Amino acid sequence: MSLTINTLGIVGAGQMGSGIAHVCAAAGIQVRLNDVSEDRINGALATINGNMARQVAKGSMDEPARQAALGRITGAKSFDDLAGCDLVIEAATENEEVKRSIFVALCRALPPETLLATNTSSISITRLAAATNRPEKFIGIHFMNPVPVMQLVELIRGIATEDATFDSAKAFINRLGKTLTVSEDFPAFIVNRILLPMINEAVYTLYEGVGSVESIDTAMRLGANHPMGPLQLADFIGLDTCLSVMQVLHDGLADSKYRPCPLLVKYVEAGWLGRKTKRGFYDYRGDKPVPTR
Ligand code: NAD
Repeated sequence: MSLTINTLGIVGAGQMGSGIAHVCAAAGIQVRLNDVSEDRINGALATINGNMARQVAKGSMDEPARQAALGRITGAKSFDDLAGCDLVIEAATENEEVKRSIFVALCRALPPETLLATNTSSISITRLAAATNRPEKFIGIHFMNPVPVMQLVELIRGIATEDATFDSAKAFINRLGKTLTVSEDFPAFIVNRILLPMINEAVYTLYEGVGSVESIDTAMRLGANHPMGPLQLADFIGLDTCLSVMQVLHDGLADSKYRPCPLLVKYVEAGWLGRKTKRGFYDYRGDKPVPTR
């Protein structure tokens, strides 16, 4: 029997966790948002508040709806606060060890009927499910960034995912008004299997001196009709996430064509992770983004 998702828990209140909270609360779902510190949770609540205010200013949401949606989101200081949720989505850092330890701890705090999902961009759903005590109630629900804007959600079942879990996730995504595609559980699924090697190639193009940051992005915007250049998009996704996805592709498919560009590694080692740290292929600390190479 599929389950209706009325209360949702989210672990990881970064770019994606706050976006998921935003759209779910706007769709009438109660949301409990967890992260490693109260500061992070409060930061996410402030971001959601600001993003909804922007929707009101643009006329895509009215003020009573904003107030009602904000009222549906509460902070969850511990996993025990997620015990009444129908579904808990993990949207923490793209690192398998981090995610596995979250799922182990979540399983201790949640009753056996609670569904579990991961928003991972690349990591095996079957392997993450194996870290839980309920692989049949586990699924990949991959939202795109920014969640309030992007129409697609990729659904990925693990080897043990039951039909009822799949149906519950499908109904949940439909309720958000999003469109879903189904991907098989292979490294990086569909969107990132295609997108990330292109971004990695753009970083190689920069690394080898074929073009500057500005010429690479302009070339792809005006020459391939992409709404954003690949390096601008990499900054938007987060360079740590881009590198992790390339590592998962490289390890999982054992093909040298997925070798992460050394320049991408260097930016991540410098802590230049893109927009979220205010520096990546562009420097965002001033009024206008300035290329860093
Ligand atoms: P982010 O760096 O903005 O946020 C990650 C959050 O997870 C941080 O707030 C961090 O404090 C928190 N976190 C880390 N360990 C935790 C723990 N043990 N318990 C609770 N919270 C913890 O990253 P993001 O861009 O929001 O990405 C999150 C996930 O979504 C990743 O798996 C990523 O691959 C995936 N994703 C990202 C994008 C994108 O474009 N950025 C798109 C789709 C999916």
